[in-house]
Amino acid sequence: MQGKLIIFSAPSGSGKTTIVKHLLANNPNLGFSISACTRDKRGRAEENGKDYYFLTPTEFKHKIDAHEFVEWEEVYPGAYYGTLKSEIERVWEQGKHVIFDVDVRGGLSIKEHYGDRALAIFVKVPSEGELAQRLRGRGTETEDSLSRRLFKVKFEMSFQDEFDVVLVNDDLETALAKAQKLADNFLQNSTIPAKATVI
Ligand code: ADP
Ligand code: 5GP
Repeated sequence: MQGKLIIFSAPSGSGKTTIVKHLLANNPNLGFSISACTRDKRGRAEENGKDYYFLTPTEFKHKIDAHEFVEWEEVYPGAYYGTLKSEIERVWEQGKHVIFDVDVRGGLSIKEHYGDRALAIFVKVPSEGELAQRLRGRGTETEDSLSRRLFKVKFEMSFQDEFDVVLVNDDLETALAKAQKLADNFLQNSTIPAKATVI
């Protein structure tokens, strides 16, 4: 089997993690690419080596210098995130396809690198007001980190047309069903919709 890649990208609070976790729970043929990052762990809600590899900036820099990343970005000032080459290999060696939750620029870098082996999905919330509300409702951010995330939304939205699919996450159940269908069509038939198809 040739391993494939399914990428989910979007501004923070759009529902990527929710959708990715749902797909992982329902598709044993998918494996998560655990990213490296330098932000703090969210208490007990996150686990090192499961949600992320939480690294110090120095450890992260060593991995950049050793060319261990497929891509990495300073997603927020001073907060580095990156996809390790070893993660993609680890998941493929398990005979699974890789699923990613990465920022918009990281997602497009992976898509560019892997071409038709990768399906790149941009998750979109109907309005910025709704996005801010969901992010607040998640209860994980300080006012400071919240405003850093909201500050980037317009910039991140400007990349949506470069993705294969724009998946609107309004009603959650509907969005999860659409994500499952996209994954099925891609994994079974290698179907990639025409660029920037909105569903
Ligand atoms: P991201 O990973 O893109 O930052 P999350 O998956 O953490 O986003 O979702 C942000 C918050 O919004 C979470 O609290 C999640 O439960 C909630 N959420 C996700 N999708 C919906 C939806 N369709 N309707 C309402 N709330 C949602
Ligand atoms: P969070 O701090 O909310 O977990 O993630 C913040 C942002 O970093 C999200 O947009 C998330 O998708 C992104 N991100 C997570 N891992 C990676 C990665 O490996 N590379 C890139 N470029 N972004 C990532």
